[in-house]
Amino acid sequence: MSRFFSSRYESLEPYTPGEQPKNLSEVIKLNTNESPYPPLKEAMEYGFNTARPLNLYSDPECVELRTEMAKKYGIKPSQVVAVNGSDEILNFSFMAFCDDRNTAAFPDITYGFYKVFADFNHVRYEEIPLDKDFKVDFRDYLGINKTIFIANPNAPTGLTISLSEIEEILKSNPDNVVIIDEAYVDFGGESAVKLIDTYKNLLVTQTFSKSRSMAGGRLGFGFACEELISDINRIRFSTNPYNVNAMTMAVGVGTLKNDDYYMEKCREIAATRDYTREELIKMGFSVIPSKANFIFAETDRIDGEVLYNRLRERNILTRHFKNERIRNFVRISIGTKEQMARFLLAVKEILEEK
Ligand SMILES: *Cc1c(COP(=O)(O)O)cnc(C)c1O
Repeated sequence: MSRFFSSRYESLEPYTPGEQPKNLSEVIKLNTNESPYPPLKEAMEYGFNTARPLNLYSDPECVELRTEMAKKYGIKPSQVVAVNGSDEILNFSFMAFCDDRNTAAFPDITYGFYKVFADFNHVRYEEIPLDKDFKVDFRDYLGINKTIFIANPNAPTGLTISLSEIEEILKSNPDNVVIIDEAYVDFGGESAVKLIDTYKNLLVTQTFSKSRSMAGGRLGFGFACEELISDINRIRFSTNPYNVNAMTMAVGVGTLKNDDYYMEKCREIAATRDYTREELIKMGFSVIPSKANFIFAETDRIDGEVLYNRLRERNILTRHFKNERIRNFVRISIGTKEQMARFLLAVKEILEEK
């Protein structure tokens, strides 16, 4: 830290992103929940052919993209905002909907960025423990009068809560916004977007990073009633009105025009996930039943961090968290069937070596 660094941020603990290796052809990358499949050629071509020229600013209203997204969910374009990855709208939500009276609440084990954004925005927060089965218990969130952030499916467990449980949380916290982070919803969850007309305190966020093979393009969305969307836009236009670049915007439209392809890939990933889980269980792992594109597994046959390191030596990247309650677990993103077969073989060999 230089002596010029603002005292407002000096105690900030930044988010640690998963490793992004250079030697991509040598590794099996199962560490940051990206799609193992490249974007569809037609989606990329649509983007290249229709993007606004890069000497001009991108459309700050993202009209075409929002219209296409609204069509998918049968809602109005005015109920959608496009952002530079869903991380951006999560940060905007801490800015827009939290203050000294409206403090934040989220599970103790969840997406690590919530805590970073809370600290960054000097928002106080409560971390609500997951229950003994690592589930979010909706009863813990009833009437707490806080701005609530819940990832559904949650990360790194992959467990979901039902829409009726989300409705109970919304009804019992009428004076606070509830943010449902649906980064993984396309792999088997049920979207809360259909509830935005009923609940004026609901904001749903999604991303094209996982289910649409666009992590590097940085594209996310928010869905809510018009009033909340205009709050988010107030923040967006005060920070970066051109937050979505022209190339990404156009590829995003091309992606939505080919959405059946991507949804088919999500089903394929879900099938590979369930297969991988069963094979790990046969080897003596306990594996949380995930609805996301990753699984969270542990076994008493090997320490989680040791397994992570042994896999890494074999150029298979997974994710390990040092958090006490989950330190024996490894989080494994779901790759192609071939990648998961190689992963399973490596795990088998590592267990036999011991
Ligand atoms: C990956 C992820 C995000 C953010 O993804 P972006 O790439 O910024 O869209 C948000 N929430 C959760 C739970 C995630 O896992």
